[in-house]
Amino acid sequence: MTAADTGTALDTLERRCAAAGHRLTPLRRQVLSLLLRRNGRATAYEIINDLPSVGRRPSPPSVYRALEFLMKIGFVNRVAATSTFFVSVTDGPRRHTVLLVCAACGATEALEDEGLERALSQAAGSAHYEVDGGQTEVNGICGACQRGLAPA
Ligand SMILES: [Zn+2]
Repeated sequence: MTAADTGTALDTLERRCAAAGHRLTPLRRQVLSLLLRRNGRATAYEIINDLPSVGRRPSPPSVYRALEFLMKIGFVNRVAATSTFFVSVTDGPRRHTVLLVCAACGATEALEDEGLERALSQAAGSAHYEVDGGQTEVNGICGACQRGLAPA
């Protein structure tokens, strides 16, 4: 993720918070920024470790609360398969996200596919369910790992 992408994501976060009347605390902004610095994917432990060691460090529970906030507003997903937090800026908090997760290197990608979303919504509807946010994790092997080029 480039510095420009990071700036755009932070700007979008700021706008979304303002529009929804949420307070964008310095910690919420910092947690998103640290996640972006790790290419949009990190464990809570890594984020806590990445916090600057100068001044008063936020407590781990406050970092978790910031992550929960980012999940609630649709900026971050928790990936169960890898126990990581993944930045996936969606249009709103209620969208269902399909995540592709590499079983070899942990690379994660949000799958943008309207047809798939429609099919999921229809299938859930047939079972008298309404899809309401959440996510589906699809395990597989990423392209880089298939070619033996996975990052170390
Ligand atoms: Zn991989």
